[in-house]
Amino acid sequence: MSETSALSSTPAHPRRDGVLRFFHGPMDCGKSTLALQMNYNHGRQGRRGLVLTKHDRSGGAKVTSRIGLGLDAIEVDDDLDLVELVMARDGVDYLICDEACFYTVAQIEQLADLVDGQGVDVYAFGLASDFRSRMFPAAQRLFELADEVSRLQVEVLCWCGREGRMNARVVDGVMARTGEQVVIGDTDGSQVHYRVLCRRHYRTGDIDAAHEARRLSPTPS
Ligand SMILES: [Zn+2]
Repeated sequence: MSETSALSSTPAHPRRDGVLRFFHGPMDCGKSTLALQMNYNHGRQGRRGLVLTKHDRSGGAKVTSRIGLGLDAIEVDDDLDLVELVMARDGVDYLICDEACFYTVAQIEQLADLVDGQGVDVYAFGLASDFRSRMFPAAQRLFELADEVSRLQVEVLCWCGREGRMNARVVDGVMARTGEQVVIGDTDGSQVHYRVLCRRHYRTGDIDAAHEARRLSPTPS
């Protein structure tokens, strides 16, 4: 009996395909922690992987998480061809792509090429939307192409106690509505930093002045 159906030109048992998964959530929700955990789990199974990042909070070619974990990583600049990167190495089983929202759209296409052409599993982590609440182009492409999209449900709270959903950019104590899409700051820091707000307070622009004042003149506690 034939392995192929008359209705389909594809074999009944194609070789194993890779999977493209995208995990997204606001800042502080634990994306990098999960990326590092996933790398650890796959490595323990004897699988060979590469860890990639772009604009990590550490400022270097590392994936670092706010709870203190860290790992050396390959820094993805705009000119890096991810297919060439993987093909130059032997037997890459999976990629951990942290901060994938900052990759180029072409690089997201390259990730899909690796999944479909080479059977590489790709686990991408990143923000979905920027400080204007608009989707990053790379994140949009991941939504369009990924086999699975997961919203991370680690609890991040707005100052009011509601669920934090939006990434607000704060410049000199005021919430910014316009500006470059990518300005690297952190959720604790100086002139430009980011706050996670609920939708209500993101839309009203209320970042909690008392909280900001404490940030600008920290007192030992
Ligand atoms: Zn709120």
